[in-house]
Parts: sequence; C-alpha cells; structure tokens
Amino acid sequence: MAEFKEDKFFNKPGDSEDSVDKLKKKISKPKQQDIISTSQKIKEMFKKQQFKDIVNWAEKDPSITLHEYDEMKVNSHTLKLGQYALIKNAKNPSEDFVGKIQRIVTIKENKSKKLICLCEVNWFYRKSEIIKFKPQAKPWISNNEVFSTSCTDYILASAILSPCRIVTLEEYESSSQAEKGVFFTRLEWLPAKKKFDGLSKLQNHCTCKQPQNPDQIYIQCDKCQKWYHITCVGLKKGEYEQKDYICGCCR
Ligand SMILES: [Zn+2]
Ligand SMILES: [Zn+2]
Repeated sequence: MAEFKEDKFFNKPGDSEDSVDKLKKKISKPKQQDIISTSQKIKEMFKKQQFKDIVNWAEKDPSITLHEYDEMKVNSHTLKLGQYALIKNAKNPSEDFVGKIQRIVTIKENKSKKLICLCEVNWFYRKSEIIKFKPQAKPWISNNEVFSTSCTDYILASAILSPCRIVTLEEYESSSQAEKGVFFTRLEWLPAKKKFDGLSKLQNHCTCKQPQNPDQIYIQCDKCQKWYHITCVGLKKGEYEQKDYICGCCR
C-alpha cells in the first residue's frame, strides 16, 4: 500500500461513482492476490504430491488451519497413531507398501471447503524394493519380511488400505498359519548406504551361511539340531520326509 499516493484514490470533482468502485477494487487487489497464490501454491504442491511441503506451508501460513488427530477411519478401518498399515502401491498393486503411522493431520485453507487429509508414515521396505539394490539377497528374503528404515513421508490418508501387523521372526514362525497382513522384521535397511544393519549376525544358517528364510524348506540335523536347505545338502523331495537326517559335520 505504501507505493500508492493517497490523492489518487480520493473522489475528485468530475469523477463518477463508477471510477470510485474501480479504485476500491484496485486497492483491495493485493490482498486477493495473496489468497490466490496460497491456493495455487497448495494446488501445485498437491498435483506434484509434495505433501510434506503442504504440511510445512500450513504450519507457517495463518490462512491455513492444520488439525492433528490420534486416530482416523479409512476404508472402514480405524487406524491409530503408531499402528502399521498397508498402503496402496500404484506402480506394483501386487505388493502393497508397509509403513507405521506417525502423524495424522487435516489441512484446510480458511476460505476453502476442501479438506486435505494426510498421514506421516515411517516406511518399512519390502523384498522387491531391497533386491533392486541387493539382488544377491533375493534367496534369503521372505515375501512377508519387511525392513525398518528411518525414511518418512507424508501420504494421502486415502492411500491407506488396511491395518497390518509386524512381528519378530520367532513370533512369525510360531503362528500356525501365514495370516494375511502379518509381516516379520529382523533387520534395518540403511537406504543412504544401500546396506543392511547387522546382516553378518544372521548369516549363520545352513552350509550356504545365509540368513534363515521361512519361505523355504529346511531339514534339521538330528544330532546338532541345525537347519539346512534341502537343496544345499543335496536332498530331493520325498527323500527327507520320514527318515532321520544327520548333517555333513556330524557324520
Ligand atoms: Zn543353504
Ligand atoms: Zn549336524
């Protein structure tokens, strides 16, 4: 406003009512532009799926209201903070993403009716995401295994499909049948370094010295009680089912 000279906006003799209206419009214009730019900015960020930027913007901009929640209802499931969830994977519908819900927010521009519902999730990587970087890990990673990471993102709450459970490998193995939506975790994945944290401690199974994979068939040595892949010890299907097995080290 400082750059306008006051006298320009006063009704001078000969000015019609009409021009006064125009002047009023001119004066109020900068304010309107501010509102439009916030809306447009949000729209742009939404289109590019920059949800974290929307949250950051909303936290600073007084023309936007941000609310936080402890739980929400999506797809007829109630999900609470700290719960694990299956999240829609647009690129690979056969393998949903897995994440832990860390924050639930709604964002609304004060002058708009549109409500944006977002969740901050802490990602757990699945097999296909890991073997892109570590193809050699393919034989020992289970299809129901997830790897904790320090990666977080904001996602649309509507991308959440259902709650899921993440247990330890021991709990996973002791459950009688593979339940849908139950995963196990035993390792952290460090995306920046593209490596596992603590892998060497698990590389002690079978003669191949790989981590145990509950998806594969193992046979236990009746002497040392260690487990071996049937293929690694040269057994064929049918050869191991009924007889005792003594491993190469114990023979
Ligand atoms: Zn083996
Ligand atoms: Zn043995």
